[in-house]
Amino acid sequence: MKNYRAELTGVFGDPVDDNPTGVVEEAAFAAKDLNYRYLTVKVLPEDLGKAMDSVRIFGMKGINLTMPHKIKVLPYLDELSPAAKIIGAVNTVIQKDGKLYGENTDGKGFVTALKNSGETLEGKKVTILGAGGAARAIAVECALNGAVHINIINRSAEKGEELASLIQSETDSSAQYLTWESSMKIPADTQILINATSIGFSPNVTDKPDIDYSTITNQMCVCDVIFNPAETIFLKTAAANGAKIVTGLGMLVQQAALNFTLWTGVEAPVDVMEEALKREFE
Ligand code: NDP
Repeated sequence: MKNYRAELTGVFGDPVDDNPTGVVEEAAFAAKDLNYRYLTVKVLPEDLGKAMDSVRIFGMKGINLTMPHKIKVLPYLDELSPAAKIIGAVNTVIQKDGKLYGENTDGKGFVTALKNSGETLEGKKVTILGAGGAARAIAVECALNGAVHINIINRSAEKGEELASLIQSETDSSAQYLTWESSMKIPADTQILINATSIGFSPNVTDKPDIDYSTITNQMCVCDVIFNPAETIFLKTAAANGAKIVTGLGMLVQQAALNFTLWTGVEAPVDVMEEALKREFE
């Protein structure tokens, strides 16, 4: 008997119209000849509970959560991964045997992209600009992957201090909050520097974090979460100083690849996914 029923995945958010993940996942489903769909769905904050009921009712394989649902979704889930529990936010839900399992692949995507560039985290000193959702996920995964110390530099002290104390109390890494001063000097012993703020995202492509760029050295690996453009001014300047750079595009592709495998059980066609994403930003 022919099966016309597609397996469903997707993303709930508000706003969500400009979220490119569907293009990437659909390209991967097609490449692997899987009858899966990725639905980009606008869900208002007050409707999240009903939307999560629909995940169960429709027997969806899973769903991504984006703004403003990543934290608010927690009460609707049956189980959380260890990292999602520490981060306190979920961007990917997997439905298995009627249970909703929450995972956070933002930080895992970052770590995979970093490792693919030939870098390791074991014993490393990391400095992160930002303390929002992406910074939180990245900081926790860096700590869980062996970083020995993490500096958090953030505009709002309260959020920065909170993230540093989360890393101190919930992981084996030490962490410290540093006040973001004008032309902020990057600590000289930093081995991995990450821009996890939203500065530089299209269309504000000439913006860059307010740091002293002469303190970025050729001993550092410098990464950005911004994926559009892939090569931000922050990264271009770091590269000009001789630093190795890792773009946010890799993080986005790798987390989409992880989601694909979590939902389908099939190895992700990473090259196809990367090409699909690049085409979107041409
Ligand atoms: P949040 O809103 O949670 O956090 C934004 C962060 O940027 C905060 O730390 C904020 O500081 C800081 N910030 C914003 N503007 C400024 C500024 N002018 N000066 C100094 N700090 C500033 O966003 P997310 O963490 O969810 O996302 C951050 C970026 O990461 C977005 O651009 C998003 O597109 C990207 N992203 C990329 C992913 C990828 O796969 N490549 C995955 C997820 C996100 P403060 O706390 O002081 O407000």
